[in-house]
Amino acid sequence: AISISGLSKTFNNDLYVLEDVNLTIKSGEFFILLGPSGCGKSTLLNLIAGFIEKTSGDLIVDNENVNRPGRNRGVVFQQADSALFPWLTVKENVEFGLKMKKTPKEIRNEASTRFIELVGLKGHENKFPRELSGGMKQRVQLARVLANDPDILLMDEPFGALDAMTRRTMQKELVRIWRETNKTVIFVTHDIQEALLLGEKIGVMSVGPSSKIDTIYEIPLSYPRNFADKEFNLFY
Ligand code: ATP
Ligand code: MG
Repeated sequence: AISISGLSKTFNNDLYVLEDVNLTIKSGEFFILLGPSGCGKSTLLNLIAGFIEKTSGDLIVDNENVNRPGRNRGVVFQQADSALFPWLTVKENVEFGLKMKKTPKEIRNEASTRFIELVGLKGHENKFPRELSGGMKQRVQLARVLANDPDILLMDEPFGALDAMTRRTMQKELVRIWRETNKTVIFVTHDIQEALLLGEKIGVMSVGPSSKIDTIYEIPLSYPRNFADKEFNLFY
């Protein structure tokens, strides 16, 4: 579970980007963080990821204070460009975390093959990031985070750079993986339609500065999932 109380963040001791954010996300929830550009969604996600330091308040993930990145949290960054290692191929990028964990080669290979195929990049394994489009790079990030198999997926507008068809496929796959694995997903978007399609709970952030979570909408589990399936059936 993720437990946030009185969380505040200022980058320059001047304006608060976030002020007094209170939020609890249960393990296994699909939580959408919805809000306008510049309200502090990425800042909040980066705090939960442990990439930046809070100014004040409490931020606890699975009973531990967060102050640095951890293997239980996997991140899909808003900017795919800076997230991939430019000197590694697609396959090497996807296997990077597994290699760090000293996962045996065959298992690494199995995971990268599976997830590269899942995100539709079969045949591009040996390309370098500079040889890929923005949407393809985003999909490499997605394959990498899924291969790492973290308990908590922190996704910052992960499908923003994808074309509509690919976005639908990825949304569907993400929901399927979430259902199958019991992962906690925090999914940042400014797209209300996407939030309604995917969300189990939707936390709406106020316009900054001093943003907080204004309202949390709960959508019955059965509702959006069925809706999503219907949508996808229509689509394909
Ligand atoms: P978008 O939807 O456009 O990605 P966002 O909700 O993710 O927006 P953030 O990137 O979290 O917004 O930024 C929130 C505010 O914090 C902005 O005013 C931004 O200028 C400020 N900010 C973010 N990172 C830094 C930083 N490293 N230093 C100073 N200010 C920052
Ligand atoms: Mg952002």
